[in-house]
Amino acid sequence: MSKPLRFIPFNRFCPVGTEFELVQQAIDGMHVSGDGKFTQLCHQLLEQLLGVPKVLLTTSCTDALEMAALLNDLRPGDEVIVPSYTFVSTANAFAIRGAKPVFADVRPDTLNLNEKLLDPLITPRTRLLVVVHYAGVGCEMDSIMSIAGRHGISVIEDNAHGLFGKYKGRFLGTFGSLATQSFHETKNFTCGEGGALLVNAKRFVDRAEILRDKGTNRKRFFRGEVDKYTWVDVGSSFLPSDILAAFLYAQLQARDSIQEARKRIWNYYWQHLWDWAAENGVTLPTIPDHCEHPAHMFYMLLPSLEARARLLAELKAKGILCVFHYQPLHLSDMGREFGGRPGDCPVAEQAGDRLVRLPFFNDLNETDQNRVIEAIRTLTF
Ligand SMILES: *Cc1c(COP(=O)(O)O)cnc(C)c1O
Repeated sequence: MSKPLRFIPFNRFCPVGTEFELVQQAIDGMHVSGDGKFTQLCHQLLEQLLGVPKVLLTTSCTDALEMAALLNDLRPGDEVIVPSYTFVSTANAFAIRGAKPVFADVRPDTLNLNEKLLDPLITPRTRLLVVVHYAGVGCEMDSIMSIAGRHGISVIEDNAHGLFGKYKGRFLGTFGSLATQSFHETKNFTCGEGGALLVNAKRFVDRAEILRDKGTNRKRFFRGEVDKYTWVDVGSSFLPSDILAAFLYAQLQARDSIQEARKRIWNYYWQHLWDWAAENGVTLPTIPDHCEHPAHMFYMLLPSLEARARLLAELKAKGILCVFHYQPLHLSDMGREFGGRPGDCPVAEQAGDRLVRLPFFNDLNETDQNRVIEAIRTLTF
């Protein structure tokens, strides 16, 4: 049990304890560049657990999304539908190829892309539909896959929050042709900075390996499939050092204890806040019955922007850091350049104003969590 904290941060890095040992092994093995032993171990572990044909570690989720844009040969003039309530990279990875992000509003319950609003956003130029499983709660994938299928559009899952979450019993990240994971410090599993591309559509496997490795066919060379390796396509360097992979492998091996700790924290917040929330016009997360979430974060929707400002200030005065989350992308400077206007995505705008995230990290102990809960419960709206 960790010591009580004087100041309770929103997030803190929690090592599982075996990271150094595995990093040392990577160093002793004298292989520290990409695609070494630990990278292979991470690939195998994720492929087997998720049942995905190919997993490739990347330097970040952003880079995995950029690989998705490259694999789809996005060109200026192409349109990519993204939820407005998400991190910048969900849109940027496609905008950097000249594609136009088209912002969709989110559902008021899960804050996931609202599938009912999709049809009017689809045009002959729509190439991709990117979904984000907010807080690791699955989007309505049945409807989304069928709408996309009807229009011949490929689906990509930005699954940065949702590793090991499920929709109707099936892992998030296994629905789209491609999916991306993040191992940034703020995510459930981390190596500081890192990510992965999950390749579900087998047609992308060979090219994904090439794009990730500077546009060369080095992987085929090492497998003995070609007798020299050479420049065969565009590409970049999207593969992380095996030192980072060793670090990540330690975290992934500890997945059961990490997930257990996070679920306990999530449930404890829920149990001790639901009645207060109901009395004060505050909404706690909605988890549809057919979704299992990996306890990535605990958020609340407050009655107003003013109520949120009050909560943030009063908790800060008590040494507790709560934070808001995304500012809707359609209202950002870049989003406005792509035509975003106030009122386009009202639910995302409300979430931008009213959402607050509570301190959440693997070793948040009960004493500290009680302090957060008590501080919140003294407030009335
Ligand atoms: C964290 C996050 C990213 C970016 O991940 P990096 O690994 O930092 O590039 C992208 N999308 C969403 C939804 C995220 O939460």
